[in-house]
Amino acid sequence: MKTIGLIGGMSWESSAEYYRLINEGVRERLGGLHSADCLMYSFDFAEIEQLQSAGAWDEATARMVDVARRLEAGGAACVLICTNTMHRMADDVQAAIRVPLIHIADPTAEVICRDGYHTVGLLGTIYTMEQDFYKGRLREKYGLTVLTPDAADRQAVNRIIYDELVCGTIRPESRDLYIEVIERLAQRGAQAIILGCTEIGLLIKPEHSPLPVYDTTALHAAAAVDFALSDQ
Ligand code: GLU
Repeated sequence: MKTIGLIGGMSWESSAEYYRLINEGVRERLGGLHSADCLMYSFDFAEIEQLQSAGAWDEATARMVDVARRLEAGGAACVLICTNTMHRMADDVQAAIRVPLIHIADPTAEVICRDGYHTVGLLGTIYTMEQDFYKGRLREKYGLTVLTPDAADRQAVNRIIYDELVCGTIRPESRDLYIEVIERLAQRGAQAIILGCTEIGLLIKPEHSPLPVYDTTALHAAAAVDFALSDQ
């Protein structure tokens, strides 16, 4: 089994999900007492959030690159950035290491394409919804049409991520708001929804959503398990 390197803590609420899903995935495949061979570096998220809101992306990139190198030096055979938002610097991270960076958008888009959808709604942080690093990859590499909520809905989706989900707060009224946002995306032609923030799966389960949902945390973790067991 290969060692999985995880850049976590963004937030630890979702990193805990990654850890559980990766270990469960290995146990399902290998049985018995098997669990994942993995390394996780976990950031203090307050520091990362400050860099994001200050627009200090160069410093944030330096922090991600430094940790990716440390994971590689520690024996990781692949690296995962356990947040959609910090894939803004995915190319810089990949360029700094020799082992593959498993990009969170790739397993997500592959399953969406396999399921035959071409127009998707994207929920995530304001950075993921408004900047092009994520939508651009979905569009250019996979030919997907990506719809994002309108400005007021983007603010609401983002506020719930940073004020509630990364703090482990799950509120039914926030779930209702997300469902309304998904309904509005469906009216505009979305066939499926990308839960493009690694904490949204804590709030929205498939049974809550009027459209099929693709949880990036689960798909990214599954891709890591596939990679780790590819030599078995
Ligand atoms: N975990 C979130 C994401 O997937 C947000 C936290 C962050 O800003 O990194 O984008």
